[in-house]
Amino acid sequence: MQVLNHGFVRLVESMGGDAAVVRNARRCWRSEAKTENADRQLLRHLLKAGHKTPFEAMVFTFDVKTPLFVARQWFRHRIGSYNEESLRYCIAQREYFVPDHLEGDALQAWIRQNEEAFDFYEELVSGSGTVKMVKEQARSILPIGTYTSFYWTVNGNALMNFLNLRLDKHAQYEIRQYAEAILELVKEVAPISFGEFEREVLTISE
Ligand SMILES: Cc1cc2nc3c(=O)[nH]c(=O)nc-3n(C[C@H](O)[C@H](O)[C@H](O)COP(=O)(O)OP(=O)(O)OC[C@H]3O[C@@H](n4cnc5c(N)ncnc54)[C@H](O)[C@@H]3O)c2cc1C
Repeated sequence: MQVLNHGFVRLVESMGGDAAVVRNARRCWRSEAKTENADRQLLRHLLKAGHKTPFEAMVFTFDVKTPLFVARQWFRHRIGSYNEESLRYCIAQREYFVPDHLEGDALQAWIRQNEEAFDFYEELVSGSGTVKMVKEQARSILPIGTYTSFYWTVNGNALMNFLNLRLDKHAQYEIRQYAEAILELVKEVAPISFGEFEREVLTISE
């Protein structure tokens, strides 16, 4: 799913889903999966009661491309695994965040500042100017709106915590756009868990 001007979030793979959550939860009562309605009621009960470990039986890996300032907020979510592209080893791509409400002179100035930073960065790493610099140092001249990409592997419980915090109106608009896209993606693979989560748990402040 496209997010912001150059970003995206894509579900690469998932393990488990609703059936795994039901199976794990029913172990408590030595019972088996029942009708969809009974399973739905069970998952609703778990969510409301805060009995969340069964949701850790489902795991998702996302491919994310996002500005550095969004990634910085994202990486505060410690329960999950990250593998990010390294600007020690790779040359930064000339892709930076542009807010969609900018126009006219302000937009031109925004683009110019970013382009100049990238011009200087490329000059440093290529050595075409007076100084040649290693990528790991030269990157510090790049704006924090520069796009990065990473894989994020997270279980259902930690993902619900992320969604609760990052769909909230107090969260920054840009990371909320990713959270909204992720909720749509996971509702397709675990519709009961995330459908009930959205109805029963998600609290979005005004
Ligand atoms: C609107 C908003 C504003 C924010 N502003 C700031 C800010 O100004 N400055 C700033 O530094 N951060 C800020 N944060 C980040 C915030 O403090 C959290 O670090 C971030 O949201 C991750 O949440 P988390 O710890 O619940 O998630 P995770 O790290 O994924 O942890 C999930 C859950 O595991 C448990 N857990 C994980 N690690 C520990 C631990 N070490 N000890 C005990 N329990 C643990 C907790 O129950 C936690 O809720 C902000 C977050 C939001 C949503």
